[in-house]
Amino acid sequence: MKVLKFGGTSVGSAARMKEVAKLICDGQQKIVVLSAMSGTTNNLVEISDYLYKNNLAGGLERINMLEQKYNDVIEELYSTTEYKSQAGLLLKSHFDYLRSFSKSIFTLFEEKAILAEGELLSTAIFQLYLQETGENSVMLPALEFMRIDKNGEPDTAYIAKNLALQLESMPDKMIYITQGFICKNIYGEIDNLQRGGSDYSASLIGAAVLADEIQIWTDIDGMHNNDPRFVEGTKPVPVLHFEEAAELAYFGAKILHPTCILPAKLNNIPVRLLNTMDPTAAGTLISTKKISKKIEAVAAKDGITAIKIKSGRMLLAHGFLRKVFEIFESYQTPIDLVTTSEVGVSVSIDNVKRLDEIVNDLKKFGTVTVDKDMVIICVVGDMPYENIGFQAKVVNALKDIPVRMVSYGGSNYNISFLIKAEDKKRSLNALSEALFN
Ligand code: ADP
Ligand code: ASP
Ligand code: MG
Repeated sequence: MKVLKFGGTSVGSAARMKEVAKLICDGQQKIVVLSAMSGTTNNLVEISDYLYKNNLAGGLERINMLEQKYNDVIEELYSTTEYKSQAGLLLKSHFDYLRSFSKSIFTLFEEKAILAEGELLSTAIFQLYLQETGENSVMLPALEFMRIDKNGEPDTAYIAKNLALQLESMPDKMIYITQGFICKNIYGEIDNLQRGGSDYSASLIGAAVLADEIQIWTDIDGMHNNDPRFVEGTKPVPVLHFEEAAELAYFGAKILHPTCILPAKLNNIPVRLLNTMDPTAAGTLISTKKISKKIEAVAAKDGITAIKIKSGRMLLAHGFLRKVFEIFESYQTPIDLVTTSEVGVSVSIDNVKRLDEIVNDLKKFGTVTVDKDMVIICVVGDMPYENIGFQAKVVNALKDIPVRMVSYGGSNYNISFLIKAEDKKRSLNALSEALFN
């Protein structure tokens, strides 16, 4: 069985949905994971924002505008009046549900229920379309099997067990349609896998059913060697190792959700990145590929804060780093980069919710400096240290850029730099020029 995930743009209009239907109806059994139609999740975030601010009129106006967009979609998607009216009823129930939130108190719980509507709508509309065209497909409700635990991490045992039960309860189907992004949490409430999380849904599902392959269909022909939003002339990378893809996803390559490679890697399931707009393009195959001895790609992660702790008292003495790291742990704040010297340690974080408390506690150990608005630039490839020359090449490419931190040696697959946000575009272009042109 294959798992195919189609992102927001891939299902972003009636015409695109018809293209997806053509792609998936090839006589092979599969699970199809859909995102919300492009723009919808952002619209739902905006609606929630109005409701949080108790601007009910504003919220209702946005809900009605979104409803109109969907009315246009169903008008174009279905060919029979019977299905158009069925879809009309379906839309009405979803949008009446959205409108019902303007009558209640609004919390994070309500917001998550609202955000889930994007994927619930896209899958319902799409499944109805497959029904109209006579496909042997069925809805596989994600809320019946996708669950996160008390730490917000996927409960893989629960997912595998309940997904298997769902599949057993509807055998002999060719196409199982399910929602990306959405899940339940430990309290049985509607929750999600964070923005962009449909990729993660697909890889969790792929791992749960031990799929032959996980395909991520999007609006570009695979993982490019640099961020196409900032660099011109980027090229797709045909093959990547799981480790390389995981580094790129974690360090900002938006094409993949930061943690979506892990379930595939743990189960050795190849991941293929493919382009819905150009289905015959080769894309990128992510697997346990052969060693390439090459620098493959560059990515950038925004919104980084660097924290330096300088101490006169032998910072690196026995137990000192542990104490520093424990502070970050106690505020549930993951660290991305770490660099050390005899007199100090610098770390970078992307979650600044508890920054003030962290800084306060760190001051017990030394003087603390905070640099905000930083970016991690991550160069990824097959770079064991014996493979001489690559560090020099990369550092040389950034010779005109002020670099705040450098990190290499944590793995053979990445070398990372911390720079100012204002230098991001210049750095990405300089690296492309030096490494790929
Ligand atoms: P989807 O809606 O299908 O999940 P996303 O917008 O999340 O699609 O991801 C695809 C986008 O990721 C591309 O359109 C591209 O602009 C962006 N992107 C950023 N870095 C890369 C990269 N290295 N390779 C390919 N795409 C990238
Ligand atoms: N619809 C969600 C989002 O926009 C999830 C996804 O598209 O992957 O973030
Ligand atoms: Mg995405």
